Amino acid sequence: MNLLTAAFQGAVLTARRLMRRLRDVMAGSGSAEVRLNKIVHLIAAELHADVCSCYVMRAGEVLELFATHGLRQEAVHKTRLRSGEGIVGDIAAKMQPLALANAQAHPHFAYRPETGEEPFQSMMGVPILRGGRVRGVLTIQHKERRQYREDEIELLETIGMVVAELIAAGELVSAGEISPAGDPLLLPQRLEGLSLSPGMAAGRAVLHKPQITIREMVSDNADAELTRLHEAIAALLNELDKILGTSSGGIQGESREILETYKVFASDHGWLTKHEDAIKQGLTAEAAVQKVQNDYSARFSQINDPMIKEKAADLDDLATRMLQHLTGRHTTAASTLPEDAILIARTLGPAELLDYDTRKIRGLILESGTSASHVAIVAKALDIPVIGQCGGILSRLEPLDPLIIDGTRGIVYVRPNEDVQEQFVHSMALKQERAFMLNELRDLPGTTRDAVDISLMLNCGLAVDFDHLQPTGADGVGLYRTEIPFMVRGSFPNVEQQAQIYRYAFARTEGKALTIRTLDVGGDKMLPYQTDQGEENPALGWRAIRIGLDRPSMLRQQLRAILEAADGRPFNLMFPMIATIAELIESKKILQLEIDRRTACGKVVPEKLRIGLMMEVPSLIWQVPGLLPHVDFLSIGSNDLLQYFFAADRTNPLVSRRYDPLSPAFLLLIREMAAMCNTAGKSLSVCGEMASRPLEAMTLVGLGVRMLSISPSAFVPIKAMVRSMDVKPLSDYLTTQLLRPDASLRQKLTDFARDHGVLLT
Ligand code: PEP
Ligand code: MG
Repeated sequence: MNLLTAAFQGAVLTARRLMRRLRDVMAGSGSAEVRLNKIVHLIAAELHADVCSCYVMRAGEVLELFATHGLRQEAVHKTRLRSGEGIVGDIAAKMQPLALANAQAHPHFAYRPETGEEPFQSMMGVPILRGGRVRGVLTIQHKERRQYREDEIELLETIGMVVAELIAAGELVSAGEISPAGDPLLLPQRLEGLSLSPGMAAGRAVLHKPQITIREMVSDNADAELTRLHEAIAALLNELDKILGTSSGGIQGESREILETYKVFASDHGWLTKHEDAIKQGLTAEAAVQKVQNDYSARFSQINDPMIKEKAADLDDLATRMLQHLTGRHTTAASTLPEDAILIARTLGPAELLDYDTRKIRGLILESGTSASHVAIVAKALDIPVIGQCGGILSRLEPLDPLIIDGTRGIVYVRPNEDVQEQFVHSMALKQERAFMLNELRDLPGTTRDAVDISLMLNCGLAVDFDHLQPTGADGVGLYRTEIPFMVRGSFPNVEQQAQIYRYAFARTEGKALTIRTLDVGGDKMLPYQTDQGEENPALGWRAIRIGLDRPSMLRQQLRAILEAADGRPFNLMFPMIATIAELIESKKILQLEIDRRTACGKVVPEKLRIGLMMEVPSLIWQVPGLLPHVDFLSIGSNDLLQYFFAADRTNPLVSRRYDPLSPAFLLLIREMAAMCNTAGKSLSVCGEMASRPLEAMTLVGLGVRMLSISPSAFVPIKAMVRSMDVKPLSDYLTTQLLRPDASLRQKLTDFARDHGVLLT
């Protein structure tokens, strides 16, 4: 055996022995501080160091000496250094280890007389990292001048991992005090995003991502851990291959690229070696994954390139998948939701949101998301304020951080100060006032000041939405999105199960209009049990009525269930995403088949069944005169119509913000539609999100729209707005503006509303 190999093996043995002892201390009795003291003594003894000290990060980005072997005990809890101050602060700020043969000659050396550290010449320190953030700094010092070896630095980093667990347990400093690196600790922060659902809420942060707790950090059976690691990597690669697929069934586009990157990383020799080294030093496979991930996050957090940040997030996901394989657990935070949860997610599907106990969810913050995303629509229906496009929020929060969110203005207050808290209380009082207003408004008609009647309907999707019908005094349901109950189930419901859902809708709308839309799945509304078609452009793809016409048995089953539930009662039926008159005629034929079937069985059919369609595809606009004789009503689905009109994906924030529904082009289209319908005596409503925003709703009325279908939380402001406006001056004003070259009339219309006393709350 040569000398180098012997030295290496000696280092590995020291590491393993130390880790074993560390594990015993961690699992042993005594307070966290007592255990931390034992740990620093142990490290000093095993590494033959004169000093070992542990600094813990406290509020205000201050590193406080918590335990030491070798420095004066009086310095404990007295010596404090700001991040960036002194060598210890430098290690924290740079999130990098530092090894110095002559520490006192270092430009950052900060002399602290209370420590009595004059005799010690060499120093080596590592950041204590967890979740990519600095929790403290661990140092060793020697009297003599010496160079520290790579394996010693590595070992101290590994020990830092274990100490991080002790700090994160919240006994040394409370969890609330430990906050993100790079941000002033515990200081309030204000982040801005996009308002997706209005309202204010206060609560505690719950991060929507698998929370995997590692039970065992240390193992003395490195071979077994290496085997576990290799098995987990093999399983991961296998899983990625399966997801990627080989032929047309595989995933496409950006998601494919991300997974390809995962694969490249998971097969990377350097990445694997880092894990293996951590295990050889005595960590379990899962602790090794966490350690490597900490190192990467620390390194990436220093780089401000958005592409790199994205990659860092991908690596995080990769580590999570690895941990899931290793622990066999796919735990989400759903089971441990506090009563006042504010959910934070990168992206979230509506079904995922509904997996939670939504009664406990006070708010939702997404790093992505637009107002047309279905999760935003579902959250709105549940009266949950939502803020989207709040980039980087996941990395700025700790679980259970106190938050106040202003969904109306798209602002998140992290660890809010007293001013914000007072403002919150004030807003809550306003909300109460609004509830009183609702009472007052309920029985008043939705009539403008110049006596134009506007029919105000509700959009419903979830059972809970129907609760708003009576208290709002809405004229009925202008859009019942039938796919939402389908999205929260585990499998496609049969006719009887569907009929049950619709019976509920009929029962709750008794005496009022009910407008049922046939299934609108595909595009951004995938059913969890639906086979992904792997379409390149799902929004332009096989969705809504296109599926209904290509798979008529599915549409027939739904129509059968609706007719069964109606039991002869009148209702409105509308088809989504119709692009040609021929598609409408075909849909009506399918409906007729079901009506005939009921008649043949001697079952009652509704004496009044009004048929309509969703105006969502621009191709129909020039066919309106030919279309109107075939329908009783039209409803503008402005969410989709806008995306197809401007060729701007409603779920892609890069383009969805670019085109305003208050642009002259879109408003001209609506005015034209309203005129054609009014002339033909056919009713026209708007049921997209546009109708739920006061300024937009005011404009729609000015353009000739006489029916708005609104999400429940927006009902009161819209009714108040309608009752405060005059139609004539607005439509005259619009006539002067619609041919102007402005990209948007938003500002002008806001000024108009202010000058004419229109309530836009
Ligand atoms: C619309 O497109 O405006 C609409 C109401 O339908 P959905 O949002 O459900 O696609
Ligand atoms: Mg639509």
